[in-house]
Amino acid sequence: MALTLYNTLTRGLQPFRSIKAGEAGFYGCGPTVYNYAHIGNLRAYVHHDILVRTLRAAGYRVTHVMNITDVGHLSGDDDSGEDKMVKSAAERGKSVLEIAQFYTDAFFYDIDRMNICRPTVVCKATDHIDDMIALIKRIEANGFTYSAGGNVYFDISRFPSYGDLACLRMDELRAGARTGVDENKRNAGDFVLWFTKSKFGSQALVWDSPWGRGYPGWHIECSAMSIKYLGEQFDIHAGGIDHVPVHHTNEIAQSEGATGKHPWVNYWVHNEFLILDRGKMSKSEGGFLTLQSLVDAGYDPLDYRYFLSSGHYRSQMQFSWEALEGARNSRRSLLEKAALLAAAAEGVAEARAARGHLDAFYEAMNEDLATPRALAELWGVLRDTSLSPASALYAVLEMDKILALGLEAAIRNAAAPEKPEDAAEVEALIAERAAAKQNRDFARADAIREQLGARGVILEDGKTGTTWKRSL
Ligand code: AMP
Ligand code: ZN
Repeated sequence: MALTLYNTLTRGLQPFRSIKAGEAGFYGCGPTVYNYAHIGNLRAYVHHDILVRTLRAAGYRVTHVMNITDVGHLSGDDDSGEDKMVKSAAERGKSVLEIAQFYTDAFFYDIDRMNICRPTVVCKATDHIDDMIALIKRIEANGFTYSAGGNVYFDISRFPSYGDLACLRMDELRAGARTGVDENKRNAGDFVLWFTKSKFGSQALVWDSPWGRGYPGWHIECSAMSIKYLGEQFDIHAGGIDHVPVHHTNEIAQSEGATGKHPWVNYWVHNEFLILDRGKMSKSEGGFLTLQSLVDAGYDPLDYRYFLSSGHYRSQMQFSWEALEGARNSRRSLLEKAALLAAAAEGVAEARAARGHLDAFYEAMNEDLATPRALAELWGVLRDTSLSPASALYAVLEMDKILALGLEAAIRNAAAPEKPEDAAEVEALIAERAAAKQNRDFARADAIREQLGARGVILEDGKTGTTWKRSL
């Protein structure tokens, strides 16, 4: 069965057909690096990863592009509120670029710990200002812009299909209540392409442009960078469901307004939100959970990945510690069963007996990335006593290429067990880590945890010190 995706543009499931045979161009909106990613954000990136891995398993050569927003993102997507980067830098007494670098590094540290493949292209907004200016010039030449109060705006009333993605009504968008923060807008839904004189006198990063010295609006960066790396029309664009009514709607208007090509993107896929039991998780409102907070509570990042895979990406998920505990227990049990298989099997053999499970697994993934069903198929392999260990192992390894729950590493460790004297070495590293923490050398402490994790040793920090166990 061919891959089918739910397309927000058509509000329905559609077979995936790429523009170029055998190739897939994919753009997923990346982080705004003014703070740590919260676990809700990570849900979006696990979803992108599952999509990329499914496309690759289906034989596509995928170009995955991810932006890093380090300029221009205000706390309100509609140009209202404060500049996230500037505010964070001021609060922490650092420069915007220092803040951006710090949180970009922290982001990729989390991405790696979650077994999320690095994108093919990672592009920073501040490295692509010229591309944004060039795109705004094209939009301007096509008559979609106006200048007011020093800023350049996109005039949505000149773009008749504005709002189609989100099923918004043009009459409401034009007449809707003004936000009160920007009296320059002709229509309530208009948005800034380039700021010169803005309410942020303290904007740290500014560039020369045909419209004066200033900086870009947030939405233009995604249009400019995706077009640069994927072309004027490409296959798939993803992001969280919150991006449908403003950010992605504006991206479409800008891109099609510049190139005149329709549709700009063929498939729009959006993940639902992760919510906390007490409500929405928000980076700007503080009080959010990071991956590190789960690790500090003794969980493996992949336990969280398991938790996410147990829900469908288009369903809202509620995070709770009980649910995470359940995911950890399930994943541990998976790892144990996989290790037993590895110990029993002599090698890995593709066998027809496992084919049925694998076919059902790919069918689930191909039906709009139905990870809960795919997980059930993985369990099915481990419970199927009619399979030889070698063929079961083959199926498990193939499934883990998409689910990425750490089974491959567990199997590798089981096949080459550690020597008993390694225990002393582990203890010595734990002592070194404790000393590093005392000296506030957290980078070294984290490096030791990672080094041990790669060898299948899991650390648990408790009140009386650190204990360890093998991951199997
Ligand atoms: P941001 O860094 O705020 O631009 O968000 C990065 C990505 O995370 C975007 O695709 C958002 O739509 C997505 N996102 C934000 N909050 C959540 C959440 N609670 N659950 C799932 N995805 C989210
Ligand atoms: Zn974007």
